[in-house]
This record gives sequence, structure tokens and C-alpha cells, in this order.
Amino acid sequence: MSNYEKPHKNNAPGPFYVCDGCCTACELPFTEAPELFEFDSDNHCYVKRQPETNDELNRILRALYGAELECIRYRGNDPEVLRRLAESGQAHLADLPVSGIKPVLRNHVTFDAADPIDKLLLDKDLAIDFHNYLRSRTNEYVTYKFTKTVTDGDVTSFSYSWYEDNFHKIEFHFLGLPECRWLIVSNTSFTVYDWLVDDGRFSSQRWYTKEQWDTSKEWQDIPW
Ligand code: SF4
Repeated sequence: MSNYEKPHKNNAPGPFYVCDGCCTACELPFTEAPELFEFDSDNHCYVKRQPETNDELNRILRALYGAELECIRYRGNDPEVLRRLAESGQAHLADLPVSGIKPVLRNHVTFDAADPIDKLLLDKDLAIDFHNYLRSRTNEYVTYKFTKTVTDGDVTSFSYSWYEDNFHKIEFHFLGLPECRWLIVSNTSFTVYDWLVDDGRFSSQRWYTKEQWDTSKEWQDIPW
């Protein structure tokens, strides 16, 4: 548990809150969910408004996962939110104890495209587009490195790193199934999710753990 459980006095009433006195002005809440957070006169953020839609809930959870010093917490009792926190390995950010739910890694995603032209994309086309997406995110703080791209049948893969030589493999599979035209396997789920959303051509994201993909095919529409 964070060392700073006392809520900031400006937090909007409700389940999500920012702890008082822990701010390094990381600004991450304003990247992930800017409409839900505000800075006080000391540049310390607080929850300005509680999430009201699924999209806002998804984004405040992402702010909670990434906040420096773990200073955004959940004091509610919604079993679905508690499950998601626990499955993301963040059960300690809930005030209520969560037991019996292990962290999981949703690193398989299938998706489709609405436009018939886009349905013609092959695994190697997706690999090129994702490669270019990463290059477009290069800035003064982040530079990506890539291994050689390899295509074997209907699977194209490469690895990439953004910190030293810590490479992460990503595989693009062409499946050709209804609503599951392509499969991507990668532990960099947030980046893949952002690309699929930002790109605008893709639909029907279905995220699975490896076990779910191999057996039940039970899925959810976001990786966290
Ligand atoms: S998430 Fe934490 S460190 Fe970041 S701005 Fe808010 S209080 Fe400050």
C-alpha cells in the first residue's frame, strides 16, 4: 500500500482518489484522462470528476497503473473494477482487500477492419505499419531500436526496444477469420492497443491471455 493514503482534500466524491502529499507533478493523469484530473495551486493533482463512462473508467485505470508513487487509488467496491485491478497486478491500489485473483497478462489480440480494402492487409503489411507507428513516436526521451523483420508463412515478427537492449518480440498473424482477421502476440499490450485505436482502420479488438487464446477463447475488449 502507498505511504500516502490520506486523500487530497479536493478530490471529487467517489471511488477514485489521489493521495495527498505525494506529488512529483508527473502529469501522467493529464495524458491518460485529462478531463478527470486537475492541478491545485501547488501543482498537485486531484480527481476533479469521477469516471461516468466505460471509456473514462478505462482511462482512469490506466492513469492509476502508471502514476508515479502509486498516488491514485480506488476506495470503491465494484467487483469488476477490483477484478481488473487484481488481474493487472495492482490489487494493492484498492482500499478493500482483493483475494483469490491472480495477475494475468493479456498479450494476444485479434481484430478486424471495417473497410474491405483494409481487409486485404497481410501480416507483413501490419508489421510495416506498426514499425512506422513506433518511429513516429520517437522523441527526445524515447528512441526505438528494431531487430530484422522475419516473415514465415502467415506470420511476420520483429523485436523492438525503447530502453537499452531490452527487446520485446511482436508477432503479426494473418488468420482470415470473421471478426478475427489478424492476431498480434506481444507483451507490449498498451502500445499495441494504442496503435490499433490511433490508426483508425481497425475494429473488434479482442484481448486474451495465452491460456484463453489456447483454450476458452474468452476475451475482453481492452488488455487491462
Ligand atoms: S499522479 Fe501523483 S505524481 Fe502524478 S501529478 Fe498526480 S499526484 Fe502528482
